[in-house]
Amino acid sequence: MNEILNQRIQAVRAGKDITHAQIVAKRNLREELETEMEKFLANGGEPKTLERGQCMTFRSPCFDKSKSELQALAKQFKRKTFAYWCDSHGISQFKTKDGQCVRCGVKA
Ligand SMILES: [Zn+2]
Repeated sequence: MNEILNQRIQAVRAGKDITHAQIVAKRNLREELETEMEKFLANGGEPKTLERGQCMTFRSPCFDKSKSELQALAKQFKRKTFAYWCDSHGISQFKTKDGQCVRCGVKA
């Protein structure tokens, strides 16, 4: 009987550890996000171009979805652009139609 109880306690503890690890991971993610956001703003980025739904999918400096997945979502929601990471511009808008960075496409 005590053995079962111990197993249950351990299971609960393991669950708590996972939760704690998830909280830490989230906190780290948020700090990374803030750092990237500061860099983005320092480079003259425009946060207003990031809409609520796009922020949700943002995971700095990568995204939790591949570019093609985000492009497909943008198509699905009939958006002309979607936010993604550009090596030249940081977080940038990409054209849904051809998947090109909007700013890379602008000729100087
Ligand atoms: Zn670009």
